[in-house]
Formats: sequence, structure tokens, C-alpha cells
Amino acid sequence: MPAVTVPDLTVLDRLGTPGLGDTVRPVKQVITAPKGYEGEGFPVRRAFAGVDLSDLDPFVHMDQMGEVEYAPGEPKGTPWHPHRGFETVTYIIDGVFDHRDSHGGGGSITNGDTQWMTAGAGLLHIETPPEWLVQSGGLFHGIQLWVNLPRSAKWNPPAYQDIRSAQVGLAASTDAGALVRVIAGHVGQTAGPGSTYTPMTMVHATVARGARLDLPWEPSYNALVYVLSGRGTVGTEGRPLETGNLAVLGAGDFLTLRASDHPDGRTPDLDVLVIGGEPIREPVAWAGPFVMNTKAEVMQAFEDFQAGSMGQIPAVHGAPTHLIEG
Ligand code: MN
Repeated sequence: MPAVTVPDLTVLDRLGTPGLGDTVRPVKQVITAPKGYEGEGFPVRRAFAGVDLSDLDPFVHMDQMGEVEYAPGEPKGTPWHPHRGFETVTYIIDGVFDHRDSHGGGGSITNGDTQWMTAGAGLLHIETPPEWLVQSGGLFHGIQLWVNLPRSAKWNPPAYQDIRSAQVGLAASTDAGALVRVIAGHVGQTAGPGSTYTPMTMVHATVARGARLDLPWEPSYNALVYVLSGRGTVGTEGRPLETGNLAVLGAGDFLTLRASDHPDGRTPDLDVLVIGGEPIREPVAWAGPFVMNTKAEVMQAFEDFQAGSMGQIPAVHGAPTHLIEG
């Protein structure tokens, strides 16, 4: 798992531990993410399956893409598709993913990079492995998180942030047994580069075998812990977690995790994605690639997409971008 690694964690800023008067967040729910397929057929885990939208708020959806070792010719992406009313955050841990959107955004992201796309009023999007990777095959592992936008921002113009791994904020746990990568928001004094409409924090932490991680967490945010790989526990109650589990935590100032002394054999570390944000507390109407406040707005989004007002598929190799019948 490359993402960002640091050979000597003791040189990093250390996070604090809960003190008297701090509340460690209790565990409300643990689910196991079911496996599925996305786009042209790449394997995913649906990380939020079975969790109430009110517990996810301000998030609506998250896929763990892979982890998969592709054979040559096997890597897959998505066809062109629309989005409106929210943001997609794509974090690549292993492998390479190319993005383009009809608004002019795009780029290639790899080990530890993030593409933060604000769909806002609407655009077309495509996510594909590069041609050379399709030919060679290889390891692919990432996350795509959907962050809702408040009513007041759903019609904002599309925007694109290209966040490179070197920009990610880094900190270590008190005993330097855990590496904390802050992609957006802040943890204690350590800030991440992602600029968000909805106040939120996104962290990828690697906790060494047997080590404990205490994360100070904004009390007004929700808190979700998703296990990318490994085995451990969450909360002072020591609730067991393994690969593909999502823990929904209750209120508090800190969250606490521990990597197992008896790892699962595939990796000695516990790797987790920890996310939380300020709940938007507005009605959610969601169908396919559109996340709006009302059903009428979702119907409008489908009509606008059909009418071509979310953008046109850019020309490729001189091929037609509208339907030709013959
Ligand atoms: Mn997309």
C-alpha cells in the first residue's frame, strides 16, 4: 500500500490523547460493505450500504475500488456519465486513474493523489485506467466518496481540485505507531489540502500491529471509520473491525482505534479511512448520479442531461458525439 509512506514517523508532529473531560466516541453501528461492480465492471465495495442517510450526512455514498490485481487487458473504467448536486472525491492508493470532465477538468492521479470534483450545476465525467495500464494490468486500489452540497451550493459552477500526495498533511500518533494522512480538513493542528464547501475532514491512517491511534475529532462532525485492510478494534469498548467494515460512531471529541496483535496474514497494519463533516440537515432526493433536495429537481436533472445541457461528450478520434443512425 504505497499512498504516502514515511520511513521515520518520529519526525512528524504528534497528535494528542484524550484528557479528562474529553469524550471518546462510542460505536453506534458496524456494517460489512457488500461487494459489487461499477462502471464497465471494476470491483467495488459499497462502504455505506445499510447505513441511514442521517448518520452519513454530509456524505451520501462511498465505494472502495479494488483492491484488485488486474491481469493484462483487464483494467476497467466508466463510460461518460453525468453528475449534479454534490462532489466526488477520488483517492487513489495504488495504481493510476485518469479523469476528464466536460468542464475542462481532468488529469491522472496515482499513489496518494486525490481528484476533488465539484459537480455543482452539472457536468459529464469519465474515469478510466490509462491505455498502458490496460495493456500491462497491475494493482488498483482507491476510494470514491460522494460529499453532498447544501441547497445553496448545488447550482455552483463545476470546479476541480488536483491534490497531489506531497501536499497531504502528515502527523503521527503519540507513540508514533500510526501514520495519519490528512487529505482534507484538520486533525488537531495538522491540516489537509482539500478545500471543501461542506466543512469536513478526510484522513487515511495506517496503524502498526498492536498500536493505538487516538484522533481528535471536531465535535460537531459525524465520524465514520472504514477499514481498507487489516484487523483491529474501534472505541473504548474494543468493537472488532476487519477489511470492508464501516463503523458509525456517536458523539464525542476523540475517536480511538487499535490495530490487532494478530493481523489477518495479508497485512500487519490496520489501514482505515476516517471521514466526518458538518451535517447539512436538508432533505435528500437521490437517483443515480444526481443528488438533489426534491424529486422534481432529480427529474429536472435527468431532463437536462438528456437535453445535453450538462455538457457534450468531447470528440474522440473524430468520432461523432451525437447519435448517427444508418
Ligand atoms: Mn463520476
